[in-house]
Order: sequence, then C-alpha cells, then structure tokens
Amino acid sequence: MLKYGGMIMNKKKFLYLIINIAFAVLVMVFDYLFLSSYLAKDEKSIYVTYKIIASAGFVLMNVFNIIYSKLAFNKKYNHWFIYFLLAAQVVVFIADIVLEYNFMLGAIVFACGHLVFLSSFFILEKIKVRDIIFMLLFSIPAVLVVIFYPYLAAGDMFVVLIAYAFIIGSMVGKAFSNTLSNINRLLKWTVFIGVLMFFLSDMMLLFANFTDRKIISWETIVIFKYLCLFLYYPSNIILALASGLSVITNNNRFEGMSDGRRLWCRIYQLCFKIALPLLPYRKPKLIEGVENIPAVLFEKKINKVIIITDKSIINLGLADNLFNSLKNNNIDYVVYDGTVPNPTITCIEEARQMYLDNKCEGIIALGGGSAMDLAKIVGARIVKPKQSVPQMKGLLHIHKKLPLLIAIPTTAGTGSETTIAAVITDSSTHDKYPINDFSLIPHYAVLDYKLTLGLPRGLTSTTGMDALTHAVEAFIGNTRTPETKKMAINAVKLVKENLYECYINPTNPVARQNMLLASHYAGIAFTKSYVGYVHAIAHSLGGKYGIPHGLANAVILPVVLKEYGSKAYKKLAHLAYEANIASKDENIDIAANKFISWILEMNEKMNIPTDFEQIKEEDINEMSLKADSEGNPLYPVPVLYDKEQLAKIYRKLIRISN
Ligand SMILES: [Zn+2]
Repeated sequence: MLKYGGMIMNKKKFLYLIINIAFAVLVMVFDYLFLSSYLAKDEKSIYVTYKIIASAGFVLMNVFNIIYSKLAFNKKYNHWFIYFLLAAQVVVFIADIVLEYNFMLGAIVFACGHLVFLSSFFILEKIKVRDIIFMLLFSIPAVLVVIFYPYLAAGDMFVVLIAYAFIIGSMVGKAFSNTLSNINRLLKWTVFIGVLMFFLSDMMLLFANFTDRKIISWETIVIFKYLCLFLYYPSNIILALASGLSVITNNNRFEGMSDGRRLWCRIYQLCFKIALPLLPYRKPKLIEGVENIPAVLFEKKINKVIIITDKSIINLGLADNLFNSLKNNNIDYVVYDGTVPNPTITCIEEARQMYLDNKCEGIIALGGGSAMDLAKIVGARIVKPKQSVPQMKGLLHIHKKLPLLIAIPTTAGTGSETTIAAVITDSSTHDKYPINDFSLIPHYAVLDYKLTLGLPRGLTSTTGMDALTHAVEAFIGNTRTPETKKMAINAVKLVKENLYECYINPTNPVARQNMLLASHYAGIAFTKSYVGYVHAIAHSLGGKYGIPHGLANAVILPVVLKEYGSKAYKKLAHLAYEANIASKDENIDIAANKFISWILEMNEKMNIPTDFEQIKEEDINEMSLKADSEGNPLYPVPVLYDKEQLAKIYRKLIRISN
C-alpha cells in the first residue's frame, strides 16, 4: 500500500495511473512531432500521420479508462455520460483528419463533436436555468471576439466561425454551470478544466488560421499554432481522464452543500473571524463568594437591587446567604422569583415593573441559564424602554450600557454569566429566539461552589456535559483565538478531573468550585468562538420535545464528533493529549477516537442515554431545517452540513426499541 495525499494507492490504482501517464506522454510527443513536422514543411502524409497517432492516443486513452476502471473499480457502472464523452472524442478525432484536407468540412465535423460534448454535460447534470445564463455568459464574448477581431480574414467562413464560437462558448458555459452542482468535485472540475482548455485552443485556432497574414507576421501566427496545439491535446487528455473518474467516483453526487453555499458560509465566518479582535467583548469581573457582593455595590454607590431568581432556589435556601449579606450591609433588595425554565416576555415585563416600582439601581441574577438570561433582558428593557423584546431579537439591537448586572450561577454549565446571548420565548407565538449584544455580558460573576452543592445528580451531569460541549465546539471550530483555545483546553481538563467526582461525591467543595470554573472558561471560549451543530440540533430538540439543553448536548456531542470524522481529529487529539485522555505518543487518529470514547464512557457512568425515544421520523425534516438555519452560515464548524446531512444525524439519535 502506498499513501499519497490521504488517498490510499493500491496496485490497481497505481497501474491505472502509470498507464494514463504513458498515454499522456505518447499524445504529447506526437503532438510535438506533428507541429514541428508541419512547421518544417515536411510532406503532408508525414505530419498527418503524427497527428493521427496523437489524436488516436487520447481516444484510446479514453477507451482504456472506461474498460479498466469498470473492470477494476466499478463493474456495474453504466452511465451514458462516459459513452457520450468517448463519442465526442471520436468525432473530434475524425474532424482533426478531415480538417487537413477540407477546412470547412473539418470545422463542421468539429462543431458536431462539440455538440456531442455538450450533450454529455447535459447527461451529467440535467438542464437548469443557470445553464442558459452561463452558456450565454461564455458564448456571447466568444462571438464578440470573432466579430470585433481587427485582423480577421474569414471570407466565406464568417458565419461558420460565429456559429462555432457560439457552440464552444455554450459548451464551456455548461461545464462551468455543472461545477455549481453536487457532482463529485474532482470529476466536475476535471471536466471544466479540460473544456476550458479546449475552448481556449479553439480561439487560438481562430487566430492562427483566420488572421490577415498581410498585417500579422508569420512568427506571431506560429505562436498561435503552438498555443492552439499545446492546449488542444492536453485538454483531450484531461477529458479522457474524466471518463475514468466518472466510473471510479460512480458519478457520486457528493452529499451536502453546493460549493456556492459552502463558499458563502466560509466567507461569512471568515469576516466574523477577522472582525473578532475589533469587537467589544469583555469578561465579567469575578467576585469571590456571595459575601463580597456588598463591597462591589458600595463601590458603585448602589443602595437597592432586584434579585432575579426562581422559586425552587428560594425554597432550597440557596438565596439565604445572599439575603443575609445584603441585610447585614443595609442594602435594600426586592426579589423576583417568577423565572420559568424558558423565560418569557411576561416574566421580563413583570420583573422590569418591579425594578421600576422599587427604584432599584442594579440587578443580581441568581440561578441557572434561565435566570441569567431573564436578568439580561430585564436590564436591556430598563435602558431601552421604547424598544420591545421582539425588537431586540438577533444581533446587536441593544447597544446601550445596562444597569449593574451581577450573575451568580447555581449550575455549572451554561456559562451564561460570560456570554453576549440570552434566549427568550415568546409565550404567545411559542417562538424561541436569541438576543445577542455585547452590552448583555454581565459586569460581575460570582462563582460560589456552596450554591451548587445541592444540585441533583441529573443536573450536575447534564449541565457539566453542556460546559464540555461549549469547550469542545469552540475548540474544534475555525474561529479560535489563542485565548479561546486556552480557555477551552482548561475547561476540558477541569471537566475531565472534576465532573464525575461531583456526580458521585456531590459535596466535594473543590470539585464543585472547579466545575464552576470549567463552565465559566467554556463560556468565555464559546462566546467568541461560537458553538456548532451539536447546539443547533440540541436547540431544535429542546424546542420540539422540551428535551433539556444539557442532556441533549451530552447525547448529541459524541454522535456529531464521530460524524465530523478525520476533519476534527487533529483538534480532538490535541484536547485528548491535554486532558490526559491519550498519551502523546499515540497518533492523532487513536487519540481523537479515545476522546470520543471518553465522552461516551462519561455519559454511561452518569446514566445519560445514547439516544432519545421522543424523536420521530416525521419531525426530522422540520428540525433539521431549523438546525440548518441556526448553524449556517454562522457556526464555524469543521465540516459543513446541509439539511439532508443533518437529518441523518437526527436519525442516528432515534431510539430503536427492541
Ligand atoms: Zn449550551
């Protein structure tokens, strides 16, 4: 086995390559002999013989490619494309010889050959509206060149030349249009390059044979002839290769996005990456422990705050410490405990009213992602009273400094205390959407493990896996900075060392504090470097079936990482080495796979399933459409997927009951 550029070269492929090279050399040698013999004014029979051998060379090469590639790689393959391509080359082979004896007739046979080529391209990809546009885009300039070429001496041939230019222009236009479809990439570009060279060679033929020799010197015409023949034969060699490629790749429609959309996504992501250093990201300042909050409030001269939280936190007594330290320092507070798991506009307006009625001067969010998200938008509504919540939807619609906002996470996962995002649900329309603005980043964050000691196991595990997902998706994406890389690595290390410990030993203070840090670091990483398809899919499952966010991520993460395959190996291996999941002497493939296995192991140990019983085949289309529009073009994922490919991932998540 030989390995070349990631392609495994076995004996069959090696032989195939060598014979193709031999054919190509033969064609080019006789191409050269033909031209030199012609220019040396040898007898016609000599140089025509050379020409016949050269042209027969590419026809035989095509025949060989079809037969050999069918026998060796793909016996069942029978697509009319290859036979039309071969027929076209046979016709131009005949035209080549006729041309030497009767130019007009030769040109007509050539034109017929081009029509057969054109037909083969329509077999490869059936007609589309854009075909017409591209055919005109290439053929009109070709026709204009014929009309406006100042040294043209065409005589009776003028109309034939116009028709010819139109045909070859259309041919190259259709070949170009095919490159925008999802034909195997290697095949479609091979065809296009071959055809483009053919087209250019024909234009050179025009200059060589129909230039007024009284004005243009013979030396210049010889240059045209050289250019013509040294484009013509290589173009036919490339086209002969295309038939073999068609068999080997089975005309494989590559799955997924068209090249146009792919390019759009990558350019979009690149723009964000370039803009990243210019964007006003900031990190919340850390306050050590709830008891240190009053000092910050004094410093900011704030006498009254609203605490945004939920009833279960109050009932569990998680807010008591905060209440006591505020009371002891004579700071007034009111409590809004109406936060619901998916914060709604009603909640926002209630809390805002409470803030205004009590003349509060700052906001403290105490809870999981929901309380923090709610508090962010309450702050936004206070500084933007005339802008409704739906008007804030999307990116950068707030741009106004919020009142002092202190976030105290009580779960270790969302990282919401560091991010620019808040996810809001409109209870009247059931529409769930993110609001993103730099001003939503809380000013302070309190990472206090004591608040997480009572977190039930199911929440410890799934919120922890959410933090891991943030770190992994930020790390394997393409919009990384040295800082986000470091933060993601730190988060993964901390999850590796502390999450399971928190699960089995929930009151371990060190492990709990470390998980809060992991979540915080992962938050810093993903707010700049984004997440990926794991989150896009998780959000759709949350919207459709109410599957909790962390649980969804935990289940989806290993499935999507497997799907990315070798494209993500290098970065996953990096994480595996850093987190001591693989040793540095293990190669990238093994290390990356160990990382994925480690996630599966963690899930299994913490009773997280590998699939969902809720997912129904009939919902997949709708959900994959949502995930597609959330993920693309924004998320800088290692491999781009469209709706169909995402649908396949959903299918892998369906529980198959026995
Ligand atoms: Zn998340």
